[in-house]
Amino acid sequence: MRGWATSMDKRRQTQPRSAAGARALGRAAALCVIVAMAFSASASDAQDKAGAGKGLIASRAAIGEPAKEPLVSAIAARLEQGKDRARLTFEATAEISATAFPVVGPDRVVVDLPEVAFRIDPDIGRSIGLRTNHPRPGGGQDGDGLVKSYRFGLFAPGRSRIVIDLARPAKITRAASDSKLENARLVIELEQTDAASFAAEAAKHTAALSPAAGQPAAAAQPRAGGKPVIVIDPGHGGVDVGAAGAHGEQEKTIVFDFARTLKAKLEEIGRFHIVLTRTEDVFMALDDRVRVARQHDAALFLSIHADTLGEPSVQGATIYTVSSRASDAEAAKIAEKENFADQAAGLEHKDDASDVGDILLDLTRRETRAYSRLFAQTLIERWKTAGNLNKNPSRSAGFVVLKAHDVPSVLLELGYLSSQRDLSRLTSPEWRERAAEATAQAIEGFFSLRDRQAEPPSRAVASSARPQ
Ligand SMILES: [Zn+2]
Repeated sequence: MRGWATSMDKRRQTQPRSAAGARALGRAAALCVIVAMAFSASASDAQDKAGAGKGLIASRAAIGEPAKEPLVSAIAARLEQGKDRARLTFEATAEISATAFPVVGPDRVVVDLPEVAFRIDPDIGRSIGLRTNHPRPGGGQDGDGLVKSYRFGLFAPGRSRIVIDLARPAKITRAASDSKLENARLVIELEQTDAASFAAEAAKHTAALSPAAGQPAAAAQPRAGGKPVIVIDPGHGGVDVGAAGAHGEQEKTIVFDFARTLKAKLEEIGRFHIVLTRTEDVFMALDDRVRVARQHDAALFLSIHADTLGEPSVQGATIYTVSSRASDAEAAKIAEKENFADQAAGLEHKDDASDVGDILLDLTRRETRAYSRLFAQTLIERWKTAGNLNKNPSRSAGFVVLKAHDVPSVLLELGYLSSQRDLSRLTSPEWRERAAEATAQAIEGFFSLRDRQAEPPSRAVASSARPQ
């Protein structure tokens, strides 16, 4: 084991001025990973741009919750590690109680906390994984540390979470706060262990994983005033940031802003009751998003996302419906990434319990999917003029969030954060207004069409024996 390469003094001398600076510093560190960022004015600017935290405060105020005690803030994070040991330190304004446990598939360590305000560059823990493998003196390589990356954020109302992605199985040797110093510190220490011990430890903690654990299921909610309920689902949230742009732009913030604009546009029409699956920057499991749609007896579920691809020239919006077989390789890849959202927040991977074979369910599903495709088509037509479409805008794949058998469900990928052109659109308020307007018109058009139709479109689809 290489000892802890220490860092605080060096960090003070070379304190990065921006997220890009932090990444450059991460790349430059030769012997071990030193990633640190104090809460400087520029860090606060970067965070404001990303919208992290701001949305939370705004939405709380909007829904009229009583003012809470000031939260404990985490103001800097630092990872020191070698091949078989790691120490992750959060500088905080007060002691934080922490519960840490391992999760398999992929191997992670989850640290559950009371709600903490993370005043840290949200990108700081991602940069570790971006480093290239340079040979270094004394053996080993950059990037072969025990920790691959880490992230943090709100997991459920009143609960925050840190998720640490491991390169190899690790034992948690310490997860505690220390308040003897000027500032409190939360320290998580890890030591490499074997896969069997890791899995055995993880099995003990399975029950604690779901954010909804222990909460009674809400009863189905009736449609408000007879208006059709539209559920808009801004992807990701809290500890699960989704995709990220080159300058720290976060999918969770972009899609949340879009969802709120769309909600306002639809409310102007006055014909629908609109429900958002999340109204603040909080994590939400994929199953829970589907549950919101079903509990509200939604007439339409629209999930909003934005992704990244390795190919920066690929751009434009894509509209996805669910299918057991993906329409193409790229759709399969996107679905795989989006379905990973639960694991990104530290939930356990579970195979989709398929209910194939139930004939009534199957009939409902056929009809629902026919409506989903009809809406997808309507949305594409509207976006042709007002938005910006991918060259192949209609695709399908096995998205978990679209699996409600009785709610027409469509996933709108607004564009790619890996495309410079898309990124400037996605972060432009004018573009957002225009694209949300087109989406609202598509929704209105879809319901007008549906109301005019005496028969559901599934009859025609079934007669053409189209495979599902
Ligand atoms: Zn997404």
